[in-house]
Amino acid sequence: MARVELDNLRKVYDNGHVAVEGASFEVGDGERVVLVGPSGCGKTTLLRMIAGLEAITSGTLRIGERVVNEVAPADRDIAMVFQGYALYPHMTVAGNLSFALRLRGMAGPRLQARVAEVARLLGLEEVLSRRPAQLSGGQRQRVALGRALVRDPQVFLLDEPLSNLDAGLRAQMRLEIARLHQRLGTTMVYVTHDQVEAMTLGQRIVVMSEGRVQQIDTPMVLYQRP
Ligand code: ADP
Ligand code: ADP
Repeated sequence: MARVELDNLRKVYDNGHVAVEGASFEVGDGERVVLVGPSGCGKTTLLRMIAGLEAITSGTLRIGERVVNEVAPADRDIAMVFQGYALYPHMTVAGNLSFALRLRGMAGPRLQARVAEVARLLGLEEVLSRRPAQLSGGQRQRVALGRALVRDPQVFLLDEPLSNLDAGLRAQMRLEIARLHQRLGTTMVYVTHDQVEAMTLGQRIVVMSEGRVQQIDTPMVLYQRP
């Protein structure tokens, strides 16, 4: 586990567009924070800076005690699930879950044990030999989560992971993600434009608009009626 600390982060894209300005907040060790705000307000850009997929124009980003501004994504101990994630269609569920580990040379009983552990965590034991096309939407979503979590990352980043699901499944997966987070105890940053999602998933919520952090509070404080 690790805390994530953003100090005055700024992102200016090559075309001069300022996507994030003066973003400062901390996500505690094992905390689940939701970034919420309208489309285009800079949420994805901020998350991608944390992941190392987008260069930081200025400011300081720490994961744990380490400044990671210049650290490559693979060395940040993070995992990310994107909107419109794609599973490897020609691989089985076990193949999808184990891919990142096989890439790093893990094999044999150790690999099997880890695949079995992640499958149990996500309720995928019965479908390990199926291919993605043979899965339900919820199962596919769980494979995407498992594939990201298989390396046991310290920080788990999710960008609108439920946006392709219907409303019923979205509600169910919200609960599953909250439960998963409780069991794993990783630090989690979850991006959404959906207030309901923010309210149900955020232990604290970071509200963004036009590239700036407007407010940071618990759901109780943010969404209570006046
Ligand atoms: P959100 O995730 O809140 O929808 P984004 O972080 O995707 O917002 O985008 C923030 C702003 O930056 C938007 O105005 C978007 O059009 C712009 N933007 C995103 N990516 C790029 C890019 N590669 N080059 C220039 N502008 C970009
Ligand atoms: P293959 O090794 O034939 O490509 P898969 O693509 O189905 O098999 O699985 C990839 C890896 O996932 C396997 O090498 C194995 O380590 C692991 N694996 C497969 N099935 C299971 C299972 N039922 N329980 C635990 N691990 C499994």
